Amino acid sequence: PPFDQRDGFIWFNGALVPWRDAKLHVLSHGLHYGSSVFEGERAYAGKIFKSREHSERFKRSAEILDFQIPYTVEELDAAKDATLKANNLVNSYVRPIAWRGSEMMAVAAQNSTIHVAIATWDWPSMFDINTKMKGVKLDLAEYCRPDPRTAPSMAKAAGLYMICTISKHRAERRGYADALMLDWQGRVAECTGANVFFVKDGALHTPIADCFLDGITRRTVIDLAKARGIEVVERRIMPDEMSTFDECFICGTGAEVTPVAEIAQYKFTPGAVSRALIEGYDKAVHA
Ligand code: PMP
Repeated sequence: PPFDQRDGFIWFNGALVPWRDAKLHVLSHGLHYGSSVFEGERAYAGKIFKSREHSERFKRSAEILDFQIPYTVEELDAAKDATLKANNLVNSYVRPIAWRGSEMMAVAAQNSTIHVAIATWDWPSMFDINTKMKGVKLDLAEYCRPDPRTAPSMAKAAGLYMICTISKHRAERRGYADALMLDWQGRVAECTGANVFFVKDGALHTPIADCFLDGITRRTVIDLAKARGIEVVERRIMPDEMSTFDECFICGTGAEVTPVAEIAQYKFTPGAVSRALIEGYDKAVHA
């Protein structure tokens, strides 16, 4: 069923309310002017992976958009746990969202109420390891990630996702699973909802996260690699360098660690490093 016609409970401004009652008015600043930030998290066996890091990023994203989420990190963590329990879910996706309300309907909105909601639903891992090891195919997006002087690129801001949706739709129309986006200087950046890594001679190479979302999964993968003695190089990567890489994978809360077989004309063979990190990530989230 559509997301507004399901059963269960949604945490809405401090209380759990029946799922279908979690509504907002059409004259909400968040809808008209994109003053909204969100998170995407996963619970594994009843425990949200890196819950505190997600709550911290949620608050930071709001601050970048010039508003404050009216709950502490501890309150947000407890609210997420309560939402899971109320819905009897242990393996699920968790979506906190905050937005400016309806007090002011113009660009300036200093006096708006900040609303916060948390929903959770079943969203299983997309692939088992054998299907996954075949690798997905990615298109190259037409849009690039904006210059940090043009948009609040470090925030997980809803408004930044309009170019992701356009790019993902175009990729799917053209037969690809997703699109790789370049940054404003033409360097490899990230996918529409995941970060990207390459493997060359056993070492990991990934773009510096200074103009796109520095994923919590990205940072986890870097730690897992280092703990396994795999060298990690964060650097500028130009698209034509992709012809020199052996393996490629994308990672994010939703994608977890997913190998890539093709990006446009570039081909990769999912291999030992991808497999080690898929297994390492699976262990970490269940620890
Ligand atoms: N980039 C974008 C654009 C995303 O939407 C996501 C998913 N939140 C990521 C990267 C990966 O972030 P994380 O690992 O924190 O889920």
